[in-house]
Amino acid sequence: MTERYIPLAINGGIGYGSWLKPKQLIVLGEYLGEDQEIELTTLQQLIVKIPESQFEDAKKKFDEVGLYYYKVGNYVKSLRTCNFCKGEEEEGMPVAKELNNRIAGQEVPFTLRPAYTGCPVGCGEPLVNDIGVMKKKEHYQLYIGGQAKGYNAKVGQLFADDLTSEELFDLVDRVLEVYRQNGRKREKFSKFISRYGFENIKEELKLGKLNH
Ligand code: SF4
Repeated sequence: MTERYIPLAINGGIGYGSWLKPKQLIVLGEYLGEDQEIELTTLQQLIVKIPESQFEDAKKKFDEVGLYYYKVGNYVKSLRTCNFCKGEEEEGMPVAKELNNRIAGQEVPFTLRPAYTGCPVGCGEPLVNDIGVMKKKEHYQLYIGGQAKGYNAKVGQLFADDLTSEELFDLVDRVLEVYRQNGRKREKFSKFISRYGFENIKEELKLGKLNH
């Protein structure tokens, strides 16, 4: 019987910069054929295909060495981040990790790219991703609808300002739910916002209550 392969997007998790350790690459190599191609994406991920028969074993080994794995397809991708150059606490790395835990892998009408950046310098390029979070002093700004690719590339619009971390988690979840419920199959998030209406999404979420 022909072996099935499961595509996974892999990285070393959220931390200072984007790193992989040799022991992680050795473990990864155990599940890949010698000539298998590994795609290196612009989203700080390696795309690999793992044999289905070894999938459960691979997940355990990946957990042991701190490799993070995500589904490939119409899901929320793992959070792209900046390098947190000013320190873990000051730049909100725990918030980025928690946000990633909550949203990465959620099913959506079309692959969605979220990005986080620890200060307004914006090294994580949050404004040209579908969902962008920017830490500003003690609070967070949420941008939606950015698009880096194509002739119609555009920056996201400020959706909410001065959010606490809990408000941010809650609001991102609710925005994703509006998209899930109302987006057409394979409709990009930025197109969905244009069709459905930025203000309509705000209204639906009664956003006024969240803005300070
Ligand atoms: S966005 Fe700010 S905290 Fe993050 S790497 Fe750039 S300058 Fe450093």
